[in-house]
Amino acid sequence: MLPFPPETGPLLIAGATPVALGVPSVPTDILVGADGAVVAAGQGLQAPEGARRVDAAGAFVSPGWVDLHTHVWFGGTDISIRAATCGLERGVTTVVDAGSAGEANFHGFREYVIDPARERIRAFLNIGSIGLVACNRVSELIDIRSIDIDRTIACVEANRDVICGIKVRASHVILGSWGITPVKVAKKVAKILKLPLMVHVGEPPPLYDEVLEILTAGDVVTHCFNGKAGGSIVEDEDLFSLAERCAGEGIRLDVGHGGASFSFKVAEIAIARGLMPFSISTDLHNRSLDNPVWDMGTTMSKLLAVGMPFDKVVEASTLAPMSVIGLPTDGLLAPGARAEFTIFTRDADELRIADSMGHEAVLRELLTPCWTVMGAGLVRASSYRAARAAAAAAACDDCAEAPGR
Ligand SMILES: [Zn+2]
Repeated sequence: MLPFPPETGPLLIAGATPVALGVPSVPTDILVGADGAVVAAGQGLQAPEGARRVDAAGAFVSPGWVDLHTHVWFGGTDISIRAATCGLERGVTTVVDAGSAGEANFHGFREYVIDPARERIRAFLNIGSIGLVACNRVSELIDIRSIDIDRTIACVEANRDVICGIKVRASHVILGSWGITPVKVAKKVAKILKLPLMVHVGEPPPLYDEVLEILTAGDVVTHCFNGKAGGSIVEDEDLFSLAERCAGEGIRLDVGHGGASFSFKVAEIAIARGLMPFSISTDLHNRSLDNPVWDMGTTMSKLLAVGMPFDKVVEASTLAPMSVIGLPTDGLLAPGARAEFTIFTRDADELRIADSMGHEAVLRELLTPCWTVMGAGLVRASSYRAARAAAAAAACDDCAEAPGR
């Protein structure tokens, strides 16, 4: 990660209500030093002379949002967006790429995207050597020659500081008639490396059921609430029971909204029955950005709309994905902790928006990022709005900045 410009100085976040930070939900001040570490958190803190100040009364402050499923190998794949499109300016401090790169092209992803980014970027390495170079046109898993176990292990070992797991896409459009074998091979490699496996489920074969039977605690199923025929957990009671059991055993159900993988109906039924997603993620790429994912805050608002409690929505967008990629989740407000926060509002509103099935719903509450704190860096954040992004960049009312106070 590149440092922010040195002129930033101390920062006082005044009066935001903490959520998912392990302290009571009462308005709290957070003082961040010029070095990007928390100095103190509490009531009535005074800002040092010349400090920047964010008046955040009425807003919430959480750990920086973590998007566990994105595609940001921009220029190296035909599907990726720039990390900045889904990063700090959308309230997201950590962007996790879900298998855009494989072992053959990870070095470019690292040099040109991961290392220069202001966001923290972590990656699941695709088990297919070529990754998503020409996504869904040239499959990364045509047959066993698409996988090089030795080189994949070597790539992970050389990049353990940024690779957080192995990714495999388990659906018919990618695997053709190859079946479940690539998932088994990917699981074996992940097991050798002692890293989680993230599996994309979608159009069978393989069956969602078969995938779950291979996974173990700590692994991630992304697109958990997809509505595809043969791939939905609410059309088959045996699969629903299996998903419940697996979630109870520590397999992580991840939303991974995407252009084709989130159904309001499936999410609503599952949540009403008590099956929450472990993590909320967007699966943002250049085919899902405008149709119909938009950004992390909008995806979180969709989960709120289908009945997930507010505090669970925030935890599933912060602490839960942080635990998947190995970031510390305790003591985030303790003196000396690195400051990474998202300041956001929860407002009554009305937004008509579709899921991946084209079914529309009206969201009556929106979570809107206002500021992102990344170390000593302070970035204005806003929601992305398809086809009217410029208008959406307007500042929200609840937390205006007054520099130098
Ligand atoms: Zn994806």
